Amino acid sequence: MKKHNFNAGPSILPQEALEKAAQAVLDFNGSGLSILSISHRTPDFDAVMADADALFRELLGIPENYKIIFLGGGASTQFFEVPANFLGKKAGYVNTGVWSKKAIKEAKRYGEVQVLATSEDRNFTYIPKGFAIPTDLDYLHITTNNTIYGTEYHTDIDSPVPLIADMSSDILSRPVDVKKYAMIYGGAQKNLAPAGVTFAIIREDMLDKIARDLPTMVDYRTHTDNNSMFNTPPVFPIYVLVETLRWAKSIGGVEELYRRNKEKAELLYAEIDRNSLFRGTVEKEDRSLMNICFVMTEGNEDLAPAFMEFAKSKGMVGIKGHRLVGGFRASCYNALPKESVEALVACMQEFEKANKR
Ligand SMILES: *Cc1c(COP(=O)(O)O)cnc(C)c1O
Repeated sequence: MKKHNFNAGPSILPQEALEKAAQAVLDFNGSGLSILSISHRTPDFDAVMADADALFRELLGIPENYKIIFLGGGASTQFFEVPANFLGKKAGYVNTGVWSKKAIKEAKRYGEVQVLATSEDRNFTYIPKGFAIPTDLDYLHITTNNTIYGTEYHTDIDSPVPLIADMSSDILSRPVDVKKYAMIYGGAQKNLAPAGVTFAIIREDMLDKIARDLPTMVDYRTHTDNNSMFNTPPVFPIYVLVETLRWAKSIGGVEELYRRNKEKAELLYAEIDRNSLFRGTVEKEDRSLMNICFVMTEGNEDLAPAFMEFAKSKGMVGIKGHRLVGGFRASCYNALPKESVEALVACMQEFEKANKR
């Protein structure tokens, strides 16, 4: 049976990228060697790194005065590396859920943290807006897509202080006005690559502000000065990332991905709103295009395990909601085809027919 991969992360990647990756594991560029067994200091891998930079830059419209680096450690490592590098006295954070909270916790080790806004009062079901941003902050940190709760910023906010964003789960899903950000980072395992590589896009002037004496690997300049090759980079995940970027370009780039993502999300949210057995969990205007959360309607909660079983029998994978939210979560990342969303919608309709009370 065909599987429909709604996993939250690591998650679905384009078939084209998987096929290229499989081939490269056996024979990289006709070298007779596996991509897993080559030196990262070879012209062939230099070309992969150059493509990673050029394609990322082209697809997201990243200006010249930004460096792109590829690191290990996941987005979670950035939670402390961002403040280690940039928090001199005081930073502002917006608390929109689990990942923001973790970032806040780490930042407090390095200086004063002002939580400028939070949506915790309503279990993170919305994105706070219209809050004041003091001008004496070293930076403001936001999480643009909240993977667990299913909320997302749909615009690039204006900030009078350097804006730093965790875009782990919505990178390349929509056009971004990169100029509005001092730094964008994320684990690549949701929209770009297998687990193991973290991307960071840093405006060059930020690098001049690093004042702390940092361990070499924590200092961003180590990586910007050495093209992410100070030590061994995550060779294979970067290779797959490049193939994913090539696929994104081949289908029409970020504009086309955005169009497809909106189309998929509209389909699924429309069914959630129509179907008497299901309801959405977050404010409509803040609904994520990437992670679509829903629960059973009041009085139908007992049907949840039956729906899970039914969906499984129809090939749905990874739709169990995060334990903090419950219910269901369908992650509809870039590489998820519309057919998978249509299959899930059909599944919800069939289940409603069989179980309507
Ligand atoms: C998954 C995720 C993380 C954690 O990423 P790791 O690479 O596992 O450390 C952080 N932020 C967001 C928004 C995420 O979705």
